[in-house]
Amino acid sequence: MSMEKAVKLIAKVNYVVVFTGAGVSAESGIPTFRGKDGLWKRFRVEDLATPQASARNPRLVWEWYKWRMRIVFQAKPNSAHLAIARLEKEGVVKAVITQNVDGLHQAAGSMNVIELHGSIRRARCTACDFKLEFQEVPLENLPRCPKCRSLLRPDVVWFGETLSLDAWRRAVGEAMRCDCMIVVGTSGVVCPAAYIPLLSKERGALIIEVNVKQSALTSVADVFLKGRAGEILPAVARAILDERCLST
Ligand code: NAD
Ligand code: ZN
Repeated sequence: MSMEKAVKLIAKVNYVVVFTGAGVSAESGIPTFRGKDGLWKRFRVEDLATPQASARNPRLVWEWYKWRMRIVFQAKPNSAHLAIARLEKEGVVKAVITQNVDGLHQAAGSMNVIELHGSIRRARCTACDFKLEFQEVPLENLPRCPKCRSLLRPDVVWFGETLSLDAWRRAVGEAMRCDCMIVVGTSGVVCPAAYIPLLSKERGALIIEVNVKQSALTSVADVFLKGRAGEILPAVARAILDERCLST
């Protein structure tokens, strides 16, 4: 019933934006942070994903990131990423705002992707403006900048760091503009990212949430679709595209 309701509502809107978290990539084999099998059950955030941790023990931090990069480089976009990309191609979805660092939305064919937390597939120099796009996991223990020989670091946003102003501005712009936001696979507790759906809600947008369980954002959702992203999103996409065919 709520799937039908969601589709009927989405058919009436003009500008859909998708907001994703680690749950959208769970079925690609990439562990989430929180939850039963989440990474934070096995690791301590303050040892691995903070600027202080990197200053204290860059080797350990790079080891952890290289392990995660190995998982990401082997992963393939799943049916949720593909359905979102298809909806963009068909003109329904205008942008994807993601908290993920895995690049799987782009791999699925999404074009307008805003990465709020950077990308694990990139590194940047800790001293100059050099950035490097990895095609595979680097071999060096401590990757260095080819321009100035300073240490490189993963081009991601660590806890306690500010987001890229450009990514944040673009995300806020899309959040204010959309009349429907589909929120997928996020616990909604990482700020300021979690404010994005709240901004859209405040502006009157319809909020549709897809998650295997309730999140901190469920209270603002107009429709909650409980289930795996890889099952729900292809069904939603199919129904929206069918509905559009019928109405044209
Ligand atoms: P999170 O780990 O806090 O929460 C994951 C959410 O996904 C939970 O609400 C869970 O119920 C839901 N979920 C799990 N499997 C699902 C499925 N198959 N279908 C639908 N929902 C599912 O993740 P978050 O909210 O994105 O916040 C954590 C931070 O972790 C982000 O800032 C992100 O940068 C980082 N992160 C990224 C990746 C990645 O790039 N793939 C992986 C882990 C963590
Ligand atoms: Zn440099």
